[in-house]
Amino acid sequence: MPEQTLTIALSKGRIYKDTLPLLAEAGIEPKDDPETSRKLILDTNRDDVKLVVIRATDVPTYVQYGAADVGVSGKDVLMEHGGDGLYEPLDLNIARCRLMVAGRPEAGTRGGRLRVATKFVNITRRYYAEQGKQVEIIKLYGSMELAPLVGLSDCIVDLVDTGNTLKANGLVPLEHIADISSRLVVNKAAMKMKSARVKRLIKDLDAAVARRV
Ligand code: AMP
Repeated sequence: MPEQTLTIALSKGRIYKDTLPLLAEAGIEPKDDPETSRKLILDTNRDDVKLVVIRATDVPTYVQYGAADVGVSGKDVLMEHGGDGLYEPLDLNIARCRLMVAGRPEAGTRGGRLRVATKFVNITRRYYAEQGKQVEIIKLYGSMELAPLVGLSDCIVDLVDTGNTLKANGLVPLEHIADISSRLVVNKAAMKMKSARVKRLIKDLDAAVARRV
C-alpha cells in the first residue's frame, strides 16, 4: 500500500455490518460490498482510505505487522491474540456479548481434571490458571456447544449473546469471564507516522459512538 494510504482492516459479517454506519459518520464509505464482491481490498469514497476484509482472527495480526494501520476487532479476538504491537484506543460498543463458561445444568466434574472445549485456548488457560486450576483444554474451531453433549468435554468457553444457542442445546451459562465488544485497534508505528489521520479517525469514530448512546 502506498505510504499515504490509510488501511483499515475489518472482518465480514457482524463487525462489518455494525462498523459501516460508524465509518460513514466519519466520512468513509466503501465503493464495493464485501458480501457480493470478491475483492479483498475495497476502495472507498476517499482515495487515501482502503478497507481490507479478512477473517476476524487475522485482524490483530494485520494491524500488529502494519499491513493495516487500524482495524476493528472483537475483544475476545484481542484477548486471545494477546494485543502485542497494538494500541486499543476506542471501544466501538458494537457486537456486544459475553464470554462465558457454559455446560450442562448438572455439570460436575467426572473426577480428574476438568475438560474444557473452546476455540479460545489462551483465554481459557489464563482464566483457570488465575484460579490455580489445572484443566485440560480441547481446541475446537466451531460448534463448541456440541462438545458437552457428546461427552467430549465437561464444559465450554464460548461467546453468548441472547443465550438461545445454549438453551437450544440444553446448556446453561455457568461463569462469566468477560464482557465483549468490538474495539478500534491501531498499529503502534502508524499512530506515530500517520498520527494526524489516525487521531482524526479516532476522534470521528468516538463522536459517532457517543451519538449512539
Ligand atoms: P446466542 O445464541 O445469541 O447466545 O449467540 C451465541 C452464538 O453466536 C455462539 O455461537 C457465539 O459464538 C456467536 N456469537 C454471539 N455473539 C457474538 C459476537 N459478538 N461475535 C461473534 N460471535 C458471536
